[in-house]
Amino acid sequence: MRFDIVTLFPAIFDGYLTQSLLEKAIAKGLVEIHRHDLRDWAADTPHRKVDDRPFGGGPGMLLQVDVTVPCVEDIERMAETPSRKIMLTPQGERFDQRMAEDLALSDRVLLLCGRYEGFDQRVVDILEPEEVSVGDFVLNGGEVAAMTIIDGVVRLLPGVLGDQNSHVDDSFSRGNRLLEFPQYTRPRDFRGHHVPEVLLGGNHEAIAAWRAEQSRIRTKQRRADLLDEEE
Ligand code: SAM
Repeated sequence: MRFDIVTLFPAIFDGYLTQSLLEKAIAKGLVEIHRHDLRDWAADTPHRKVDDRPFGGGPGMLLQVDVTVPCVEDIERMAETPSRKIMLTPQGERFDQRMAEDLALSDRVLLLCGRYEGFDQRVVDILEPEEVSVGDFVLNGGEVAAMTIIDGVVRLLPGVLGDQNSHVDDSFSRGNRLLEFPQYTRPRDFRGHHVPEVLLGGNHEAIAAWRAEQSRIRTKQRRADLLDEEE
């Protein structure tokens, strides 16, 4: 799977790309990540200007349509297959596990990271990207949001996690779409806190039943909306 990231700050991704899971996925050839500096498409050298003031007034600057659209068009021209184009914006559809699972089926995803007040509306009108938000809050730029999406998607790709099925039971995931059950490891007892007996007995059916029940209890307590969705 290939990601193309359009950003004014490509260096923000430096540390992220060399963290263990992603670095290994790249080394194994399971993922390619290409960064594109939007300033490389600015006509106005040496200032390499990519933003301008909004018509009608108001604070801040907007990323220009005549820089952004040619940038995306060039990236698309260079590629063999068209990408799913995603614009990061707090006004978009909320990113969730279902969206991550759906994106993981794509060969290519292009992520457009905004800055300042975001993009000129005509970028949306012309490129018709999917507009995606990572939550109801405002970040300074789309880069952290892009990393969130890449992180959520890459771990679903076959071969990335040691155990292919380990993400199926994760919270929100296709196992049951609920919150995950509580988990324990050694020691069995710590300061009077014991591991539930059922997990120690080796009865797989009983363990599965306990986990399913705990998952429902936890979801009911913390995220009852997920149970409503299930019905
Ligand atoms: N003026 C915009 C608004 O009110 O909708 C917010 C612009 S924000 C300061 C700058 C950039 O950060 C956005 O263009 C977007 O790319 C990114 N961004 C901010 N919050 C985000 C969120 N919740 N999800 C995804 N991207 C976000």
